[in-house]
Amino acid sequence: MNAVLQHTEHDDLIISFDPAIGEEIGRISVTPAEDVEAAVNRAREVFHKWKTTSFGERKALVMKAREVILAEMDEIAHLISRESGKPFGEAIAMEIAPVLDLMQWIARRAEKMLKPRRVGIGLYGLLGRSSKIIYKPYGVVGIIPAWNYPFSIPLGEAAMAVMAGNSVVIKPSELTPLVGEKIGEIFEKAGAPDGLVHIVHGAGETGAALVNAAPEKIMFTGSVATGKKIAKAAAENLTSTVLELGGKDPMIVFEDANLELAAGAAVWGAFCNAGQSCSSVERLYVHESVAEELTSLIVAKVKQLKQGRGDSEDISIGPMSSERQLKIVEDHVNAFRESGATIEIGGGSADVLVGNEGKARTGVHLFYEPTVISGATNDMRPMREETFGPTLPIATFKTEEEAIHLANDSEFGLTASVWTRDYAKGRRVAQQIEAGSVCINEVLYTHGIGQTPWGGFKNSGRGRTHGLEGLMELVQPQHIHTNRLALLPDAWWMPYTPTAVETFRGFASKFASGSIIKTTALLPQLLKRIRELMNVNREAKK
Ligand code: NAD
Repeated sequence: MNAVLQHTEHDDLIISFDPAIGEEIGRISVTPAEDVEAAVNRAREVFHKWKTTSFGERKALVMKAREVILAEMDEIAHLISRESGKPFGEAIAMEIAPVLDLMQWIARRAEKMLKPRRVGIGLYGLLGRSSKIIYKPYGVVGIIPAWNYPFSIPLGEAAMAVMAGNSVVIKPSELTPLVGEKIGEIFEKAGAPDGLVHIVHGAGETGAALVNAAPEKIMFTGSVATGKKIAKAAAENLTSTVLELGGKDPMIVFEDANLELAAGAAVWGAFCNAGQSCSSVERLYVHESVAEELTSLIVAKVKQLKQGRGDSEDISIGPMSSERQLKIVEDHVNAFRESGATIEIGGGSADVLVGNEGKARTGVHLFYEPTVISGATNDMRPMREETFGPTLPIATFKTEEEAIHLANDSEFGLTASVWTRDYAKGRRVAQQIEAGSVCINEVLYTHGIGQTPWGGFKNSGRGRTHGLEGLMELVQPQHIHTNRLALLPDAWWMPYTPTAVETFRGFASKFASGSIIKTTALLPQLLKRIRELMNVNREAKK
């Protein structure tokens, strides 16, 4: 039994706990591997019907699912908060609201975005040819999410997959199975055909069983280590994958930035969801001339935050979701201390007494104080590894070039932010940062803008979710090519002859230049070759 599987009492059960008070909140059976395969097979049968539905029918389902969510909003937010530990308000602001927006957008726009389109094919058009691209759904989309945004990430991906005409099997994180179950229930209440969105439960083995069952696409969100395992296993069946992995996201604050705003953004970006966001601010680089001022502003803001069980509306920071995460945070803060960095505030277990003295799951107290660290440098280990907890290390820079270098000096590249009043400088710096999303004077929240692509550079991932690019991951483009002059043989057909080779030279030097004038000069040779082929054909018939 590993740290993530603290819930498991029996082999075939996941027991879900409230991480703030250690109380059991429900149990769910683990889906055996053969049932996972059966779920994928059933989803494939459903897919064959679902892919024939109109966009109107798909839209009606997704909009109905939105209504179900709106009707049960507080209940869902409480469930998310209880199972993951995040504050109730944050569950609404950062999970429910963004996914509702994504759902209405994709429901309304998918038809237009996936409209068949003509493609210009240059001089082939002169030969009576035309090309059209149509978008066909993949089939079964297997969704394997992390626990940190257990509602919005899998539900948003499922809504996009279904709008594109796919069916879906979701394996929620073993830390948040009840939220995963709720997603299935929402689609059921919305009237989805049985098996269109199917939920299977379990830990890594169940995720592996889902990959092995060979859905047509895997949408994975989680750690780099698991992402690599999934990519390897998926390769066995050549299953296409989208991998949304870890981050170590930098925030660059220039001396001309609005420091008051930057401090507020840093606090929210580092500590929302107790720092357990893939796009959390995990490294803050500030110009040395304003470092002290920004640090004091940040520390003052942290002092105002209340930490506790997420069900109270005045709580800003809940517990960590698991002992595994807590241990990483403790290790990183200790490593910062040992490397000579200064703990400005925090740095230990939070003094929070709730229920069983805030002892969750294995009896470990999961509340960790929001921790601000100054004097960090890139050679310190926790500046290189993902922390995924409530820490905000601050480092300084002297020049724009140094800031860019420090920000890019990482294996990760998910998001980043640049803070300055000089927008030209902001854009110039943003374009040099190696990350999938870069904000100017904003942090973290772009996953919530479903209209835009989400994904990482470097070890932060492959492929995209959200936006047009994310939708394109859920379909296969099919090229339909038509020849409206199907009266004559093509000059490039067999048999090859010296005349053919001469014509091919002309294709290379004239036709392939893209110039209509040059290509006109090829016409006599082309006609000669076609006449030759027609004679050959006549001979062959004799
Ligand atoms: P994890 O890799 O431990 O687990 C993620 C999911 O994979 C879980 O559902 C788990 O059961 C499943 N899994 C584990 N082993 C598997 C295997 N061999 N085959 C198939 N599935 C398997 O990650 P986690 O601790 O749940 O999540 C934290 C990580 O997720 C962090 O690194 C964070 O940055 C990342 N994350 C990334 C994004 C993003 O959009 N890039 C979003 C959220 C979280």
